This record gives sequence, C-alpha cells and structure tokens, in this order.
Amino acid sequence: MFKNSRTLYIDFYMILLQPRFVNKDVDIFFGTKLNNKSSSQEFIFDYLDHIYKITNIRRFILMHQIHGTNIQEIRDTRFLRKRNIYYNIINQTDGLYSSKKGIALTIKTADCMPVFIVSGDFAAALHMGWRGALQKIVYKYINHITNKIGIGREKIMVITGPHIRECCYSVGPEMIKQFKSEGYITSRIFTTKNKTIYLNLESTLREQIIACNIPKENIFNTSLCTSCLNTLFYSHRKGDKGRNISFIIRK
Ligand SMILES: [Zn+2]
Repeated sequence: MFKNSRTLYIDFYMILLQPRFVNKDVDIFFGTKLNNKSSSQEFIFDYLDHIYKITNIRRFILMHQIHGTNIQEIRDTRFLRKRNIYYNIINQTDGLYSSKKGIALTIKTADCMPVFIVSGDFAAALHMGWRGALQKIVYKYINHITNKIGIGREKIMVITGPHIRECCYSVGPEMIKQFKSEGYITSRIFTTKNKTIYLNLESTLREQIIACNIPKENIFNTSLCTSCLNTLFYSHRKGDKGRNISFIIRK
C-alpha cells in the first residue's frame, strides 16, 4: 500500500500500517467500511471496541470536526469510559497533536483527507477537506510545530489516507476563485475534463508542504479513492452516512 511501510494487520474492519520511514514508535491505522451504515456514536464505539480487542489500543481522542483549522495539543487529558474504551471528544477542532504515548489521535472521514504528520516526538492528525485545504490547515500546523520544537523540516513526514481523489472530486467553478484568493496557483490543483472541474486535494497538500520548505518526497499517500473504492471505504458523495476511522499513535 505504501512503498515504505509494512502492513501489519488487515481484516474486515481495518488496515494497520507501520510506516518504516518514520520509526517503529509510530503506527497509523486506516479503517475500512463496515456493513453497518450508521454514523451514530454507538457505531464509532463498536468500531473502537473492535480495534481494542485486536490491538490492545484503548485510549482514543476524537474530534467534533467542523472543517476549520483549530488544532489542539493533547497533554494531560481526562478520559471517559465506554465498554473497554477510554475516550475524550474535543469540541470544534480539526487537528490534534501530542507527544504522549499510547493515545490514538483519531479522525473520521468520508471523502475528506486524513493527514498524519510525524515530527520528532510529536504526532499529529489533521482533517482536511476542501475547506481545510483552502484555510491551509497543514501549513498552519507545520509552521506551529517547527516554531515550537525547532525540528529540521526535512525530518517531518506527512502521511495521507484514503480520500476522494481528482478522478471523482468534481467541484463548482466558484471554488477556483476561492483558492486563487488564498494564494494557490490554481492550475496546480484543478483540472478540467469535459467541462467539469476537478479538485486534487493531494495537490493542495503538496502546495502547503512545499510552502513549508519540506521536500515533497516526505509525503506518502495511499492512492486510494473513497469514491472509486466505495465498497471498501465510506464516501459522502456516494451517499454513505458512515465514517472511515483512522488514527496515529505513538507507542
Ligand atoms: Zn475516484
């Protein structure tokens, strides 16, 4: 799936990757689709409970995502308990980062891009749809973390999960104006085919990464489209109500 990663576990529910390019202290998980189409909290906890049973991971930080750029550091957090799981839900935020071990920074997506960033002792999970790309959530986080910990930018690794790709992500013409006004070179992120405009989220990510002086070789992606692979992943555009769960954890 990734060139430089090892797939440790695959079952009906999830894919677990261990990125070799980072170190053995970080795991990244990409959940796959369940038969259950519900997006309720109960469904999420069923899922997390399953993850616990096969991985022993039981502490999860979830987000109430709002397509913004609030990014929160997780230090000492209170956990609530549900069945085998300890969790906390951070309100109105689209990014989490932490140097704490044993805490899964969790994202829910159905077409948006889950972005994981590893930098020194910090792991981050960012939720980026078109609004997050427009507001440059990745650029904001990387500048924040490099100023905070003073790590060399060449050491920062960015890993993205399944999302709706250019093949399927048709958008309205007004979006070109919006991205242009935020400083994007729109020819790098949009394509037009048969009079339909397509947005390439991965390109918006690459533009943000390059603007941070991070080599584009430090981006790793799954090349999986949630819309093309709708039997495997939830897709909002395909009418799914469920969400793909993915997370990063320092061990
Ligand atoms: Zn596609």
